[in-house]
Amino acid sequence: MVGALYLHIPFCARKCAYCDFASWATPAGDALMGAYACALGEQLEEAASLGLLEGCETAYVGGGTPTLLGEKDLGRLVEKIVAVAAPSELTCEANPDSLSDEVLLAVREAGATRLSIGVQSLDDGELRELERLHDAACARERVEAAVATGLEVSVDLMCATPGQTPASWDRSLKGAVALGVGHVSVYPLQIEEGTPLDCRFADDPCAWNDPEVQAERMTEAQVALEARGYHRYEVASYARAGKECRHNKAYWTGSPYLGLGTGASSMLDLEGYLRLRLRCPRLPRPPEDAVRARLTVETGRRELAADPRLSALSLSLEFLNEDQAVAEDLMLGARLVEGLRPELVVRARELFGARLDDTVDALLARGLLAERDGRLVPTEQGWLLGNELYGALWGLAPGEVASARC
Ligand code: SF4
Repeated sequence: MVGALYLHIPFCARKCAYCDFASWATPAGDALMGAYACALGEQLEEAASLGLLEGCETAYVGGGTPTLLGEKDLGRLVEKIVAVAAPSELTCEANPDSLSDEVLLAVREAGATRLSIGVQSLDDGELRELERLHDAACARERVEAAVATGLEVSVDLMCATPGQTPASWDRSLKGAVALGVGHVSVYPLQIEEGTPLDCRFADDPCAWNDPEVQAERMTEAQVALEARGYHRYEVASYARAGKECRHNKAYWTGSPYLGLGTGASSMLDLEGYLRLRLRCPRLPRPPEDAVRARLTVETGRRELAADPRLSALSLSLEFLNEDQAVAEDLMLGARLVEGLRPELVVRARELFGARLDDTVDALLARGLLAERDGRLVPTEQGWLLGNELYGALWGLAPGEVASARC
């Protein structure tokens, strides 16, 4: 029914300077975290009883900071995921400062297969600017400990940050590789409105975050990582052979997924949505032409912990017709190095006719797409001007997306 499952843990020890994710600073040991994890466990059981988790291949416990839950609550939650969904890939997101040996052991014993660690930088000055809680020594030591457990390990690194230089970025990239991880994700810092970082640099042109600097840092990452045996398989993701994150690939290939927890999003096909609606009669009847529903949980963490029933969730919803679903898949596929699946392009041609060819021709002419081995693939320039590439593909679908709240 869904190929992938996502659980959102909205707790962090402290907010980082740049963060506008759905997460809240929470004191260690706050009983709310245990109650919330327990509530997610109940929602998992309810989703499984509806058959929604049949065929689920990957799961991801993200945040926030899942490792802040501690070994008992996170271990139990991972066990529950394994019991109800038995995914063959199960990733927990982690931050170095809360990734204790006990947590490592607990998640491995409970059945996690992967850890994704928010390192961001191996430069103490940069980490201070970002107001991360760990320093470089802590990050190195905890990543090494994670690799030693035998779990697959990925690290996140962030570029175009205050104080970063090409040399310090290179040191972070090479330092991460030296820790023996199989997967590296690299992201340019986004300065989100209203965050402490945004306020701190309100009167500063932030030359270090200029789009050209972002592009240079992403290219430097590509050169450094490819030279060391990592292949790029998505705009921001590099892996050693066989170490790609299947969960993320599910998002980019249009596989339905279920997201539970405050702020989490789901993408369900019509059958999945109607099955959920049987349990949640408040969910609106989908429009006649809907083939896909996107749902986002708006229930706060306290409310969710107090009443975990799926039928009690507040949700915002969007319904996509087939034109919109295919345009969305084209847009997501353009993030992947392997490009657009031929069968998807065939369906798009049936739906959009000459409009597809005109759009593709324009993107080829501008160098945002290229043809390789009979497939349409994004170019480096296409990724650098991602908004234009993705916008043109999404623009193939006419009309507004139907939305609702319940
Ligand atoms: S650890 Fe991640 S989710 Fe938490 S505040 Fe920092 S960036 Fe945000």
